[in-house]
Amino acid sequence: MNHRYGGVVRLRYNFRVHPTPGQQIALAKVFGCARVVFNDGLRLRQQAREQGLAYVSDAELSKQVITAAKKTEARAWLGEVSSVVLQQALADLNTAYRNFFASVTGERKGRKVAPPRFRSRKDNRQAIRFTKNSRFKVLDNGRLRLPKIGDLEVRWSRALPSDPSSVAIIKDAAGRYFASFVVQTAEDETLPPIESEVGIDLGLTHFAVLSDGTKVAAPKFLRRAARKLKRLQQDLSRKQKGSANRKKAVVKVARAHARVGDTRRDWQHKLSTAIIRENQAVYVEDLAVAGLGRTRLAKSVHDAGWASFTAMLEYKAARYGRAFARVDRFFPSTRMCSGCGRVNDKMTLNVRSWDCPCRATHDRDVNAAINVLAAGRAESRNDRGAHVRPAPVPAARREAVTHPDAACSTSSVEGISVLPGGEGVNATTSSSGPTVTCPR
Ligand SMILES: [Zn+2]
Repeated sequence: MNHRYGGVVRLRYNFRVHPTPGQQIALAKVFGCARVVFNDGLRLRQQAREQGLAYVSDAELSKQVITAAKKTEARAWLGEVSSVVLQQALADLNTAYRNFFASVTGERKGRKVAPPRFRSRKDNRQAIRFTKNSRFKVLDNGRLRLPKIGDLEVRWSRALPSDPSSVAIIKDAAGRYFASFVVQTAEDETLPPIESEVGIDLGLTHFAVLSDGTKVAAPKFLRRAARKLKRLQQDLSRKQKGSANRKKAVVKVARAHARVGDTRRDWQHKLSTAIIRENQAVYVEDLAVAGLGRTRLAKSVHDAGWASFTAMLEYKAARYGRAFARVDRFFPSTRMCSGCGRVNDKMTLNVRSWDCPCRATHDRDVNAAINVLAAGRAESRNDRGAHVRPAPVPAARREAVTHPDAACSTSSVEGISVLPGGEGVNATTSSSGPTVTCPR
């Protein structure tokens, strides 16, 4: 079974970049122009809708909010930045609309997609994208040349495997800049097939529980970082609005937030790679995390980052020729006996193990994982395919592995998590980095 859709896998490679003060000003200008074009386009479509007019086509929109707008006094400055970036901003808007429409009609499954929203200069994340057409270039001296911005210093934590097809420049809430390259990978990365398959349950007391009995806890350093973040957030809430101290606290929280995210991603990359390597097929519960948002499980689910973890499993499976499927949650995975199939009474959350009348004794979470495995296998055999979704292409939005320094300073470097040869996933973590616990 091979769930490699479309042949080519696109991956993102993220690196920290260090623009000079002058380049930062130039970038701010482009972020601003891209935002204005996006918002102008959105406003135009909204107005057309309010006036009962037809949906403004992509081409017409581009003509009006870029080509024609540049000739007006109010928008003449759009001519000072790369037009490719402006086109890409509109492309983002068009994608947002398409996703929204597909969600409304039910063509797109999963959580509902909201209609596009206006972008604000206060957004936490500013991003612009350069495609091949813009003639961006990685120079021999390692700098990244961007049209009308200059040559940016990049912290390469490793080389790109081939020519990137696009690069996005991102500024995050902590004021850090990143270059995110998209590279198409060849299809020679399929791992040799193996026998074992695994079901994974989102444990209540563990991050994940595997059908082979492995229980994976979130590592201590991650819990510690999360606690620190919480403390900083509390500090922030006590600061007076508009005060200089509050501003400082906001930056502190944003940095701590970024560090927790980096550290968690790093750990999840190792875990997901280990699982994909060791199993031919991986089945997970389809929790529809969005739907859980209102329950008491929500906090633990979101904190644990289950959604980003399963996304990693999904694209790594596609990339390395493994099978991956989400199993419908609407079967009683917890209270069904994985031995005899009997569905037993409901259990409260504090019941950790239980006995079935067939005399089997079950660990609650391991039993659930075994059921997920069985359900996944049954679905694959039937080849219904309904729950076997194509791998997300491109890969997860930030396929990044952080530099060891990420945990102790803000000068972290974002690397990539491509498997070097047969080795572990994290090419950029040295012995001084955060230790990572894998299931085995
Ligand atoms: Zn039983």
